[in-house]
Amino acid sequence: MAQAEKHAFQTEVKQLLHLVIHALYSNRDIFLRELISNASDALDKLRFEALSNDALYEGDKELAIRVSYDPEARTITVEDNGIGMSRDEVIENIGTIANSGTKKFLEQLSGDQARDSALIGQFGVGFYSAFIVADKVTLETRRAGAPKEEGVRWESDGQGEYTLETIEKSGKGTRISLHLKEDAKEFLDGHRLRQIIHTYSDHIAFPILMPKEEFKDGKPVITDEWEQVNKATALWLEPRSKLKDEDYINFYKQTFHDFEAPLTWLHNRVEGTLEYTSLFYIPKVPPFDLYDRERRYGVKLYVKRVFIMDDAEHLLPTYLRFVRGIIDSNDLPLNVSREILQDNQVVRKIHSASTKRILDHLSKLAKEDADKYATFWDAFGNVLKEGVVEDFSNREKIASLLRFASTHNDTPEQRVSLDDYIERMQPDQEAIYYIVADSYQAAKNSPHLEIFRKKGIEVLLLYDRIDEWLVAHLNEYAGKPLKSVAQADIEPPENEAISEEEKKAADELIERLQKVLAERVEAVRTTARLTDSPACVVPPKNGLSPHMIQMLKQMGQ
Ligand code: ADP
Ligand code: MG
Repeated sequence: MAQAEKHAFQTEVKQLLHLVIHALYSNRDIFLRELISNASDALDKLRFEALSNDALYEGDKELAIRVSYDPEARTITVEDNGIGMSRDEVIENIGTIANSGTKKFLEQLSGDQARDSALIGQFGVGFYSAFIVADKVTLETRRAGAPKEEGVRWESDGQGEYTLETIEKSGKGTRISLHLKEDAKEFLDGHRLRQIIHTYSDHIAFPILMPKEEFKDGKPVITDEWEQVNKATALWLEPRSKLKDEDYINFYKQTFHDFEAPLTWLHNRVEGTLEYTSLFYIPKVPPFDLYDRERRYGVKLYVKRVFIMDDAEHLLPTYLRFVRGIIDSNDLPLNVSREILQDNQVVRKIHSASTKRILDHLSKLAKEDADKYATFWDAFGNVLKEGVVEDFSNREKIASLLRFASTHNDTPEQRVSLDDYIERMQPDQEAIYYIVADSYQAAKNSPHLEIFRKKGIEVLLLYDRIDEWLVAHLNEYAGKPLKSVAQADIEPPENEAISEEEKKAADELIERLQKVLAERVEAVRTTARLTDSPACVVPPKNGLSPHMIQMLKQMGQ
């Protein structure tokens, strides 16, 4: 056997380890959920690779996860007979942070413990969570299909270094032993471990086994026999009527690594020409990289219960990238690849039906629970707006889900829908009026609003970055045109029209202004639209709005 080799962790790993251990102290249970989730992923991967190479099973098809503990040695062991890792894979997956998302995540950290642990929760701490409870972690693994001499032992105290050693390992897969810290001895308890597994891992689709315990003189004695402790049913395949809210919530937390319960979910089995099951969740808190359009998608794809891939694009539109969930199809081939997904009839149908279903669910939520919908809107409204631009076929439906600040409410909270607005329109009012500005304050205090206030016409106050883009694509809603106040032809109330004398008196001034500003404006005019402000700038009809011009300038146009 070769001498153990010392390696140093990447700086980022050290940083992450430190953080994980300190920020997650009050959530220590999750170490088991993370290790079981990795074991389950490894079994999924084996089953997937074995589709084209049955030999990878090495004659052992009873895929399972074994959890055991030894009070004397103060260890907990989690073992799987899944895909395992080669030496290079151990270095790559356990010793470094290969994923660029992790780097971005680390940049987001603020040093504020509460905020950071919520971030870690979303991000999924994974393997390193072992060090929350352990002062030494030993991982032994062998890649399925590799000779038994090519096993690898990785060991670390989580302080900055790890050792690697080549070992002989007869079974394929991975065994992880945690040597518990003095203050984590509470986990050396069969009852406690079973309880954690029930809470977080009941619906892991593989059996989780633990040694049976017998009571002798009132004390538990560990036996050699294994028993299954989880349900091991894919939750999404169970009928809705059998599932409690709690089941959905725990499944969400454990599958998508979120500490928070989801805001809402929808679970459907579709039968007919296409057969598939979908389970979608809308989180309560936006992920830290929500505005990164390159970000990986939150939908896992299964084919006939076999896990195929994480983050499957093409199953949902980009503007629904905040949705997490599972789609399990009976109509896709098991060897489906990302390339196939890109241009596939079945995928297109699932995509369009799922999009409709999610949008309908949001409409229903908006009607039935305004508070929840407000939470949703504040978290994801700006992403949903992209849908108005991108998804022509659902534009009207998405538009009905939009919420804005408005002169009706006079608060920056975005709670007014286009339907609310239309209901309040004046009998002779033809358009839905809006103003776009850089901030709520700027929108609200714009001189353009004076005449509208005076006439009692409501104006929507748009101040998000994406809004100019949004209104450029949303020309009408429910047959009513959307118009910018800056470009609206609004007549002043009769009694405030400008008299001929007033006009004459102004002519001289206008002439002078015209001369001074000749290079910079198209025309100078009197207006009855302003009541408090002396003057304002109006864009030419059909011209670009000032806000748009500014945006284009920023983009270097
Ligand atoms: P994630 O599961 O989100 O990828 P983790 O930190 O939990 O992140 O795991 C890191 C990587 O280590 C996994 O992606 C996988 O490649 C590898 N790994 C961890 N546990 C196992 C295991 N039991 N069997 C095989 N590979 C594993
Ligand atoms: Mg993991």
